[in-house]
Amino acid sequence: MRRLLAERGQVSVAEFMEWCLTGRAEAYYRRAEAIGRAGDFITAPEVSQIFGELVGLWAGATWLSMGRPPVFSLIELGPGRGTLMADALRALKVVPGVLEAARPHLVERSERLRQAQRERLGQAQRERLGWAAPVWHESLESVPEGPAILIANEFFDALPVAQFVRARPRWHERVVALGADGEPCFSVGEPAGLPRFTSPPEEAGDGAILEARPSAWPVVAEMGRRAALAPLAALIIDYGYARDASGDTLQAVSAHGYADPLATPGEADLSAHVGFAELARMASAAGLTAWGPMPQGEFLLALGLEARLGRLVGAARPDQRTALVTGARRLADPYQMGVLFKAMALAGPGLAAPPPFAEGHPPTAEER
Ligand code: SAH
Repeated sequence: MRRLLAERGQVSVAEFMEWCLTGRAEAYYRRAEAIGRAGDFITAPEVSQIFGELVGLWAGATWLSMGRPPVFSLIELGPGRGTLMADALRALKVVPGVLEAARPHLVERSERLRQAQRERLGQAQRERLGWAAPVWHESLESVPEGPAILIANEFFDALPVAQFVRARPRWHERVVALGADGEPCFSVGEPAGLPRFTSPPEEAGDGAILEARPSAWPVVAEMGRRAALAPLAALIIDYGYARDASGDTLQAVSAHGYADPLATPGEADLSAHVGFAELARMASAAGLTAWGPMPQGEFLLALGLEARLGRLVGAARPDQRTALVTGARRLADPYQMGVLFKAMALAGPGLAAPPPFAEGHPPTAEER
């Protein structure tokens, strides 16, 4: 990174994030262990099996409401260690016909994580439960067209964000440059137009920072293109804010603690809050309807978190019960992952609101 900065003078925050995460062979998401106890951070499917199971039931209910297409792609964007997909497929056996219809497609750029996914979704489980062999992809574009249900948990937060700094009367791109000490530092770049789908605050004082995620647009636009051809619904779960907000949310996480995003480029996980309002505007421009976001806790409770936890606890050995309850609570508790994390559904033309979004959760686009 020092060499690149010495050559180019500066790179935008979005270029920096891409360089760190996926932009070259040594990038974080091409190489690192990332998720799990031995990695840098823990995600909801790794906290409790109930998460993937309920997401699986969400996919099952959505498949039913699509009119049970006899073949559909069950697509996961950024499947991590494959835990969510494995738990989802296992839970789907209660929905007659869905496993025969499902074709799992995994969009993943990390060879290391692909290997973990292959192990998790191995032949033994497949033969026992009877679902089709998964197919891996670099991006959504190569997944076959046709009816599709997409799942993306903590995928969008890993897509690069662009940052802008207010230096009145204009916005300037926020960049990474070399400081006087020869180390990377944040700096104010050239004046720049704000990307489509951003909504700048009316009163932004000098120094205010605004984030945008233009890198999400190709993904949402591709969903929209597919939704015009066949039924498509997507579930996006991530940490972020429901309404437009300003502020710097770029964060680095390493070995389960916060780190300086500039200290070890490409060695730590980098992510930034998902702006759900921005995603909803992208969805509506792509011809999709956005529902929610609703807090993750509310979403999981509506899908039956309590009942599933009760069943698991009832069947568990006494020494396993505390862990089951603690895990479920961590997902839904407002002081843990229950509110910061949010669920949003996108659906193509003519589809009903995917459950549980129907009641009390009007499409975000109309809310504004
Ligand atoms: N959904 C998983 C993993 C979240 S971490 C879970 O909840 O545990 C982010 C995931 O997205 C990783 O699998 C990472 O390799 C993948 N990823 C990040 N950027 C990507 C990109 N541009 N294209 C495809 N996959 C990407």
